[in-house]
Amino acid sequence: MAKCKSCGAEIRWIKMASGKSMPVDPDPVTYWARPGAAGKVVTPNGEVYSCVFEGNLSQATGLGYISHFTTCPNADKHRKKYGGSHEG
Ligand SMILES: [Zn+2]
Repeated sequence: MAKCKSCGAEIRWIKMASGKSMPVDPDPVTYWARPGAAGKVVTPNGEVYSCVFEGNLSQATGLGYISHFTTCPNADKHRKKYGGSHEG
């Protein structure tokens, strides 16, 4: 298992369609895809969806991972380090 260089938390790397790798929290979560929702989930295939994380289990979209950028206590450092035009 990889570890975040900023906070030391265990992370998993998911390869995105773009070819870049995204650090995510290691535990998969159930998500409900919902366009425009504030939440973001990364699927094992490397796709990112807007979603919510609560709902009717029988209607869940599937399992995905939460970007470590969202949960890292040192996310600001990530942003500076990786930068890029993908903000937001
Ligand atoms: Zn971290």
